[in-house]
Amino acid sequence: MPDTAHPFETARVRTLPALKAELVALRAGGATVGFVPTMGALHDGHLALVRHAKSLCDKVVVSIFVNPLQFAPTEDLDRYPRDEAGDIARLQSVGCDLVYLPTVDVLYPKTFVSRIEMNGPALGLETNFRPQFFSGVATVVSKLFNQVRPDVAVFGEKDFQQLAVVRALVRDFDMGIDVVGMPTVREADGLALSSRNAYLTPEERAIAPKLHQALEAIRDGADIEQAKTDLQGAGFGQIDYIALRDADTLGDITPETQSRRLLAALWLGKTRLIDNIQA
Ligand code: AMP
Repeated sequence: MPDTAHPFETARVRTLPALKAELVALRAGGATVGFVPTMGALHDGHLALVRHAKSLCDKVVVSIFVNPLQFAPTEDLDRYPRDEAGDIARLQSVGCDLVYLPTVDVLYPKTFVSRIEMNGPALGLETNFRPQFFSGVATVVSKLFNQVRPDVAVFGEKDFQQLAVVRALVRDFDMGIDVVGMPTVREADGLALSSRNAYLTPEERAIAPKLHQALEAIRDGADIEQAKTDLQGAGFGQIDYIALRDADTLGDITPETQSRRLLAALWLGKTRLIDNIQA
């Protein structure tokens, strides 16, 4: 916990040897390690994951890395928001023990040639629009897990398909990491917190909460096609998908389905928003 007499210092490292050295110190005495991978531009949703990791483990490591492997050439890699100093201050305020800030050549040196391909929950939804995405996520998450070797890793339900993909990855490769999902943190008007919300103009920001409202209306019985028409009437652009799926497989609903998830991705101006709720 922060202490005014001896201010809590979040250690920061940028290289693998430095990470390994700090992890040895963190694990001294058998301390457990929780891990929260992020792309930075941290908001209260990320901080909720860090707080939860802290409640589950003795020590918490956060990585900040904007992973080029999960962006298509047409996507926002170059303009993705970055605020390293602000991120470190926020992490310090919630008691993060160590922040890992690798550069691209630390994670992908010139010798790097491997790629993890995911099926199962990775098929459909995001993959129809971002075919490279889950391969990039699975590859970087595998590397980060191997480097940090956490006991627990905490991910947000905001990226619900990603959470399912990470669970499958850990299961398939016997990684022995406890993957914990956290509910989506929202603004008071229902908009899911996202680093990409910073791209929204004031006019778009005023419209954006209609996505969550539409998901709730569909969950409560409204017609999906009508909801799509209404969203486009309200100012949204292309709707990549609004789909009701089996929450466990992310496939179609079947008689065996125990829990349903309503997932959406759509454009508002130049910003692509995603959200999902239990349905
Ligand atoms: P990102 O930095 O966007 O890659 O996200 C890092 C982690 O934070 C992922 O596990 C996300 O699902 C999670 N996350 C992002 N936004 C939210 C939110 N609004 N509420 C909870 N978790 C979130």
